Amino acid sequence: MTDSQAHDVKRLYLGGRWIEPANPLDVINPATGEALARVGTVGRQEVARALADAEAAWPAWRKRPGQERGAFLDRIADVLQRRADEIARTITLENGKPLAQSRGEVKMTVDHLRWFAGEAERAYGRVVPNQVEGKRHLVVRSPVGVVGAIAPWNFPLVLAVRKVAPALAAGCPVVLKPASATPLNAVLLAEAVEEAELPPGVFQLVAGRASDIGAELLENSVCRKITFTGSTEVGRLLIQGTRDSIKKLSLELGGHAPVLVFDDADLDQAVEGTLMAKFRNTGQSCIAANRVYVARSLYDRFVDLLVEKARALKLGNGLDDGVEVGPLIDEKALDHALGQVAEAEAQGARVLCGGKRWEGAKGFFLEPTILVDVPPDSPCMCDETFAPVAPVAAFDSEEEAIARANATRYGLAAYAFTNDLSRAWRLAESLEAGTICINDSVPATSQCPFGGLKQSGWGRELGTEGLDAFLETKHISMKVQA
Ligand code: NAP
Repeated sequence: MTDSQAHDVKRLYLGGRWIEPANPLDVINPATGEALARVGTVGRQEVARALADAEAAWPAWRKRPGQERGAFLDRIADVLQRRADEIARTITLENGKPLAQSRGEVKMTVDHLRWFAGEAERAYGRVVPNQVEGKRHLVVRSPVGVVGAIAPWNFPLVLAVRKVAPALAAGCPVVLKPASATPLNAVLLAEAVEEAELPPGVFQLVAGRASDIGAELLENSVCRKITFTGSTEVGRLLIQGTRDSIKKLSLELGGHAPVLVFDDADLDQAVEGTLMAKFRNTGQSCIAANRVYVARSLYDRFVDLLVEKARALKLGNGLDDGVEVGPLIDEKALDHALGQVAEAEAQGARVLCGGKRWEGAKGFFLEPTILVDVPPDSPCMCDETFAPVAPVAAFDSEEEAIARANATRYGLAAYAFTNDLSRAWRLAESLEAGTICINDSVPATSQCPFGGLKQSGWGRELGTEGLDAFLETKHISMKVQA
């Protein structure tokens, strides 16, 4: 986005056309606390119209061969690739993350689009051998129908596309609602959709009051499925809202990932991996390391090195060179994190670095924070922190480490650092998480499923499972004459 475009009111894309903006919402740059742009919003009536337009577009869209639908996704990917610098800059402006990480987000988004462009050709069914003479059985897959997609602000582009791309690939029109904090990337995505010449109604963008848009998606029977990424609390509201309609839901919810560092681990690799798992995206990732458990024999050396490295992280505006940690999304997020630190201190924890607001800029910055001596029932050990705060504790046995890692209502990701192959297998089998990272801290890839156990959600995105989420299964039973 250019400076001259700042404060323009962005339009929304509905029914294959741009609509004049009304009731605009301010988009705030979290690195400065200042308004960056404004985006038009819609109410329930427009959402209902978007769903009706999507329904009208569905029959023709689902009938297209998968290869044709995939070609549209490839064209969207081409546009995003061409405009990658501008899009990355916009992610940093509205979300705050360092520019290099925004570039990585755009690259992964393009990769997801290309993966699902291919998957559009592979919605396979199967032929089942008959057990009764004169019968034939087929299992076929068909698109679920009009989809409502609700995205969060922490990875505003890539998480929207994890929904939009497979839905379109499967033959489903989509109505996308981005988070109110980060709608600008969704507008850029809509521009790419327009340039790729998707038929009107197949992709639409709505922004506005979440409870109104959510209510329309829940109550309007045209919307056959809601796919949501966000907090467990809103996920629960959606489950309650589908109680009567039994509408299909995919839920990518909160996390509370543990990091386990064993005495056979490579210390430097474990420290670097923990830094990445904790501080990437300023700790605002659903798979962010929330608590770190270290074998007692390694504990002191690990903590010293982690503190040294955390102190050296460069904080600042994500657009500035070399910045590694940006601001939190808003003042509320900063208060939440500072509240968890204060509570831990009140319970006897020690702050080894950080623990306070960074005053180097006007935005919502928290210094990278390492805590020790934190009681297991302290909020940062139990509830999502979503900030650059790492509580570290020691453990005495593998069994204890696994038990503490699993003692949470969440189950999205778990990290372990070990060079013992048998231990790695035992961990992979016993840790309760949808993604297990062994000596790794950046697990997501287009080809593998991503999602949570326990209260971290229902269903999976990415991989072949990502397409499955938008397909129904039908059994065709046929009598034939010999
Ligand atoms: P959030 O408050 O739940 O918001 C997520 C989305 O839901 C936003 O678009 C929001 O709109 C919308 N929303 C809020 N209330 C709604 C309602 N009543 N009905 C329908 N939609 C509603 O979560 P967040 O703060 O943006 O994101 C952080 C959370 O997402 C964390 O818990 C994180 O772990 C989780 N997350 C999970 C994954 C995963 O893959 N499992 C990935 C990323 C993030 P507004 O912005 O307009 O309020």
